[in-house]
Amino acid sequence: MMAEEKLQFQAEVGRLLDIVAHSLYSDKEVFLRELISNASDACDRLRYLALTRPELAADDPAYKVRIAIDPKARILTVADNGIGMGRDDLIHNLGTIARSGTSAFLKDLTGDSGKDVKLIGQFGVGFYSAFMVADKVAVTSRKAGEEKAWRWESDGRGEFTIVEAEREGRGTTIELHIRAGEDEFLEPQRIRQVVRTYSDHIALPVVLVEDGKDQTLNAAAALWQKPKNEITEQQYKEFYRHAGHLGDEPWLTVHFKVEGKVEYAALLFVPTEKPFDLYHPDRRHRVKLYVKRVFITDEAAELVPSWLRFLKGVVDSEDLPLNVSREMLQKNAVLAKIRHGLVGRVLSKLEKKAEAAPEEYLSFFEKFGAVLKEGLYEDFERRETLLKLALFRSTQGEGWSSLAEYVGRMKEGQDAIYYITGDDAKALRKSPQLEGFAAKGIEVLLLSDPIDDFWIASVGEYEGKKFRSVTQGGADLSKIGADGKDEEKKEPPAELAGLVAVLRLALKDEVKDVRASERLTESAVCLVADQGDLDMRIERMLRQHKQLDQASKRILEINPKHALIAELAKQVGKPEQAQALNDLAFLLLDQARIVEGEVVPDPAAFARRLSSALARGLG
Ligand code: ADP
Ligand code: MG
Repeated sequence: MMAEEKLQFQAEVGRLLDIVAHSLYSDKEVFLRELISNASDACDRLRYLALTRPELAADDPAYKVRIAIDPKARILTVADNGIGMGRDDLIHNLGTIARSGTSAFLKDLTGDSGKDVKLIGQFGVGFYSAFMVADKVAVTSRKAGEEKAWRWESDGRGEFTIVEAEREGRGTTIELHIRAGEDEFLEPQRIRQVVRTYSDHIALPVVLVEDGKDQTLNAAAALWQKPKNEITEQQYKEFYRHAGHLGDEPWLTVHFKVEGKVEYAALLFVPTEKPFDLYHPDRRHRVKLYVKRVFITDEAAELVPSWLRFLKGVVDSEDLPLNVSREMLQKNAVLAKIRHGLVGRVLSKLEKKAEAAPEEYLSFFEKFGAVLKEGLYEDFERRETLLKLALFRSTQGEGWSSLAEYVGRMKEGQDAIYYITGDDAKALRKSPQLEGFAAKGIEVLLLSDPIDDFWIASVGEYEGKKFRSVTQGGADLSKIGADGKDEEKKEPPAELAGLVAVLRLALKDEVKDVRASERLTESAVCLVADQGDLDMRIERMLRQHKQLDQASKRILEINPKHALIAELAKQVGKPEQAQALNDLAFLLLDQARIVEGEVVPDPAAFARRLSSALARGLG
């Protein structure tokens, strides 16, 4: 036998344990829910493995969770005959935090225990919650198909030990040495009540051993197969927490059964809070796929589109073969039908919610809208519905509105939906390109999610109205007026044409064109992309991701009404001003770049020109 080894918890686990053990967590009994949830997952995983390797479960085919109490020794035991853990599994699973997004979440911990408990509660405490009620926890586990068992032990203070051990049969036994003061968890009555409250939905028997007899405490049937009217809110909530590995509440519950050609049941949830891995680069959903009550996988990518990856819950199919392999799930026709059906259900639920409870819908959209909008880009079939569901900020007030609302507010003579994209709605409001629109009272959508640039380019229009970027192409606003009449287009003064010519010449290697602007009223200059070129922000993103190495040239627009431009126009043709005008041409361009959030390509030249312009101004 190997000697006992002492190991350190990963630093993050240490901090988590500290908070779990020392904060006054209001409902400590949730530790039992977490342990039962893990036991149930472990049985699910073995059940799946045993489909192809039946020998793994043959000696003990009745999956269950057994709880036992030894009041004298002050030990509460939770045991399962699931998949079990080997030595490395124990070290990895119970010594580090492996869940994606979790380490990032732990960095958000503030050290203020009140706030941190809330964060952890929302995240779901998992195995480590055992230390809320126990001052020592021992886990003895034997992996299915292996001879050796291992014992993991810790008092939750920085270290754990691991040593070879004995265990009859496969599975995991968790021994909690109940802390002084937590004696309620040594009372059968209390345990019964906790299991009924939190774990009734668990689909396998949870039994309490009393006087040598097994007593089943829960309903032990798959919750999603029950009719809706037999399920309580509390049961839905606890099931959500178990299936989603989350600690918050479901914001929306979508539970339905489909019969006919393709038969399945689905119980899906939209969380209240953003899960921590929402923006993980794999963009995977974690909805669990079952076949005839047997858990198959939570990695069936085709089951749920990634733009609905915030969904949690289960889908249980009657048609897929039980021995379906994960490879078979790719491009599977049954799965495609299920996906189609559930996307439709979820979207129509969202539509109803948007109508019936706009405030609540807004809070959903603020958290998940950016993900939902990915569907506009990826799912042609759902485009119409998603355009209806999308909400936007705009130059009209601080709130959010739908496209229908925007269209309802369009000005007489306006035939396009104007938008601007950028990193942050607040900064966007100050963009010079909006000035002319603001002066005419034309509303502009402020799009600040990175996905916006992509879907808007591919969607193109909404109800026959084209989307038009205010930073791209010409902006002929003269047709749009309060009374609908064409305004007279004033010809720019002749001197301006001279200035434009001078600037064109000076900046011929830098910009595509220089022209008088209709969209500026206050700023002197701005940059726009030519019609047909990539939008400026998309281009910036592509360059950041090294998918584009050269920027296309922009158009520099100058504001004829601006005092500086008017003054410059007067200097055109004076030979003594030629050098100064040339410098100023570059300064105007750099200024426009800075406002756009771009880097000035030659900072030294910029500084030199600025200094000499200032000196001239003072002279
Ligand atoms: P989560 O369940 O969300 O993954 P936990 O902290 O509850 O997080 O558990 C961590 C990991 O430890 C689980 O993912 C699982 O791999 C392992 N584990 C915990 N309990 C058991 C068990 N009873 N049997 C097998 N593995 C377990
Ligand atoms: Mg767990």
